[in-house]
Amino acid sequence: MDLRDRPEDVAFRLEVRRFLEKHLVGEFAELGARGGSGDEDIGFEVRRRWEKVLADGGWTCLGWPLEHGGRGASVLEQVIFNEEYVRACAPGRVNVMGEGLLGPTLIHYGTPEQNARFLPPIVAGDELWCQGYSEPDAGSDLANVKTRAERDGDEWVVTGQKVWTSLAHQADWCFVVCRTDADAERHEGLSYLLVPMDQPGVEVRPIMQLTRTSEFNEVFFDGARTHVDNVVGGVGQGWQVALATLAFERGVALLGHQVGFRRELDRIVTVAQESGRAREPVVRQRLAQAHIELTIMRYNTLRSLTGVEGPAAPPEASIAKLYWGSWHRALGELAMDILGPSATVLTGEALPENGSYGVGDLQRSFLFARAETIYGGSNEIQRNIIGERVLGLPSEPKGAA
Ligand SMILES: Cc1cc2nc3c(=O)[nH]c(=O)nc-3n(C[C@H](O)[C@H](O)[C@H](O)COP(=O)(O)OP(=O)(O)OC[C@H]3O[C@@H](n4cnc5c(N)ncnc54)[C@H](O)[C@@H]3O)c2cc1C
Repeated sequence: MDLRDRPEDVAFRLEVRRFLEKHLVGEFAELGARGGSGDEDIGFEVRRRWEKVLADGGWTCLGWPLEHGGRGASVLEQVIFNEEYVRACAPGRVNVMGEGLLGPTLIHYGTPEQNARFLPPIVAGDELWCQGYSEPDAGSDLANVKTRAERDGDEWVVTGQKVWTSLAHQADWCFVVCRTDADAERHEGLSYLLVPMDQPGVEVRPIMQLTRTSEFNEVFFDGARTHVDNVVGGVGQGWQVALATLAFERGVALLGHQVGFRRELDRIVTVAQESGRAREPVVRQRLAQAHIELTIMRYNTLRSLTGVEGPAAPPEASIAKLYWGSWHRALGELAMDILGPSATVLTGEALPENGSYGVGDLQRSFLFARAETIYGGSNEIQRNIIGERVLGLPSEPKGAA
């Protein structure tokens, strides 16, 4: 695989660059790259307006087919867009769940009516989504979902509790995995429902994280309603549809993360140089190792995503997830080691909402990276997938977890 830009890639890169140079001004430039992981509370309304600017320019939902309002961009073009986006210090995106997870799932499993209703507002940046999978007893073991939906006339009535629901407090809709057949067990009898968040039967309670922000929430459904047509892939087919969404989560959607890593590593190198720590052989060795591993990560991700079409997670996606999650966690630890004792001194602004502490950018990254080896499938689960599906090892014994 030749990873150098071809003439058409150079042209595409310039087009992205020109768009960003022209539009990333005023309040958007002021916000800069804020609003990413562990920093989601920052500038949310500005970022919503920025999403509209991207949409007006045709720069949302790049990888979606043209007939669904996307740009039909190749994986390489999406990588180029992300690289330029990060290089320009553009704000964190607000609708990763809609654009990266629900949209591609609907394109594969949605009815024409569902696509006509739900895809255009995602492209336009008008409706935000959250993912209602995990429950107190159903995380890695998603098939244990207990939230149930019962038919009442032409509506589903949803009752149960979800947890760790990212951005539920900002979302207009939630894609909810729930049990529609009370007698069926495990993977059977699940359905994938689209549920509006702004209704009396939905209560969202924020969970405070280590970074002192509340990216995720508990969500309580108590008689929440959605129209009977808002089931994706057919009643009882929820498991298959839910897995398709997870495939997208472990695939192209992860690319966006990686392009920010380079800037973070560069910043840590600068800190090491300014503090004199870069003269220490062990620090130099660890920085060089991080650089080598990051370069390998980029090439491996590109290789594993090349030729990927549709909702089948290539097993290599698990290798990429395990690799980048672990790499980034180790980078955070390296940053703290380089900062030394000053790593324990808070350097960020306190948030007016809770009046408490504010972490600096490297501290935030160190703390949030703990979550990256958990969400989107924990490291242990990725190792199970690699063992069983890549290496063909025997399945883990039942009840081993
Ligand atoms: C920042 C963040 C955002 C999230 N956002 C969302 C969201 O928007 N929507 C959503 O639905 N969920 C979300 N999650 C939840 C996430 O998907 C779950 O945390 C994850 O699936 C793990 O589930 P759990 O927390 O219940 O842990 P458990 O599944 O209880 O696992 C506990 C520990 O046991 C290990 N383990 C479990 N099973 C096995 C096994 N078979 N073999 C070996 N080890 C095992 C795990 O690796 C882990 O270390 C988010 C999580 C985080 C951290």
